[in-house]
Amino acid sequence: HFDVIIVGAGHGGANTAIQLRQKEFAGSIAIIGDEPELPYERPPLSKEYFAGEKEFARIQIRPEQFWVDKQVTMILNTRITSVDPAGHAITAADGRNFSYGKLVWATGGAPRMLPIPGGDLPGVQGVRTRADADTMKAAAETAQQVVVIGGGYIGLEAAAVLSKAGKKVILLEALDRVLARVAGEQLSRFFEADHRAHGVDIRLGVSVAAIEGNERVTGVRLADDSVIPADLVIVGIGIVPAVAPLIDAGAQGGNGVNVDEYCRTSLADVYAVGDCAAHANGFADGATIRLESVQNANDQGSTVAKHIVGLEEPYKALPWFWSNQYDLKLQTAGLSTGHDAAILRGDPATRSFSVVYTKAGRVIAIDCVNATKDYVQGRNLVTAGVIASAADLANAELPLKDLIP
Ligand code: FAD
Repeated sequence: HFDVIIVGAGHGGANTAIQLRQKEFAGSIAIIGDEPELPYERPPLSKEYFAGEKEFARIQIRPEQFWVDKQVTMILNTRITSVDPAGHAITAADGRNFSYGKLVWATGGAPRMLPIPGGDLPGVQGVRTRADADTMKAAAETAQQVVVIGGGYIGLEAAAVLSKAGKKVILLEALDRVLARVAGEQLSRFFEADHRAHGVDIRLGVSVAAIEGNERVTGVRLADDSVIPADLVIVGIGIVPAVAPLIDAGAQGGNGVNVDEYCRTSLADVYAVGDCAAHANGFADGATIRLESVQNANDQGSTVAKHIVGLEEPYKALPWFWSNQYDLKLQTAGLSTGHDAAILRGDPATRSFSVVYTKAGRVIAIDCVNATKDYVQGRNLVTAGVIASAADLANAELPLKDLIP
């Protein structure tokens, strides 16, 4: 028995435990994770770790001794397969049972694989875990030509690392622009042009019919029946949230598990945080969404830790995100979905600019490329929901902080 059991040893799970101890929670805590590693940072898996610029020890969220000192019991290589909410107990794949006072579900999700023939051939690789990144790294060493499927952040970051390493990279995106789900068109076009300038062959509006190969991938067949040869196929087309045991136990949800403003699920004493938690987000007009970011996992972990120690502070943290590609450092704040204007600040040709997104004149999000000052100041505009004119927002000589009334 543990007073708090956290399922999932990732960003959200780790921070829930860290925050509980910081708030002097004295009860017993266990983190149960299905990977072999102690909690580590996932963003470097498609960036510095994949590029071989950072070794694994440097991406651990805390050193091993920290968890010992804080008396957080780590139960690794253990997959929880069922939840008994009435009995306050969970069962692992190997049959072990654990009982809990409070349960925190922090399981993230699994990479969505391609539902097409050959979609699971060796050499077709999703990117979520250290093991995925190691497999991808090893395959990339000998690969001549790599096809990346999906023009989201993970696909673009992997393409940047590989093309920098001298590999021929072809990136296939089903929609008519990269980053379509998360950014406005100006940003998409900028990143497309930059990747092309680095030799990446970006093909838009392309649908994939099958993966070719026998023992291993040899190519990607497109809907027009042409085949692109490939020794490695990296798939970055989103995740499927890992919530089946909770939903089977009766929790409300579907695409993720539904949580309230304290990250409580509909099951008594069961919380959920991070990529798997569908929540009403104030920066999305209260729409129920899942956010896939370190910020959201960490901040929801804090919300749960507070709630467990009796501090009722609803989750309303500003969403923020980053991505590194080549020498480009993208930082974003807010959620641009639903914007009705995207205002360019600065000149993309200088490789330092921002895009401010507004809705009915109100600033709802900002994407900054090599523009940290705009990012730092723009965050406050988003938080405050400042109303500003397009002319002022576009004037790069005018500091954004001057637009806060
Ligand atoms: P995770 O960190 O995924 O942790 C969940 C853990 O639970 C995993 O170890 C999983 O294996 C385990 N688990 C799942 N089911 C079970 C089960 N039944 N029993 C036991 N354990 C289970 N975000 C950013 O903000 N910036 C970035 O630049 C960025 N880059 C990224 C690059 C890559 C390659 C990836 C994969 C993600 C990136 N993200 C980035 C997203 C960010 O890493 C996630 O949003 C974050 O990890 C979510 O934390 P989490 O705790 O919800 O899930």
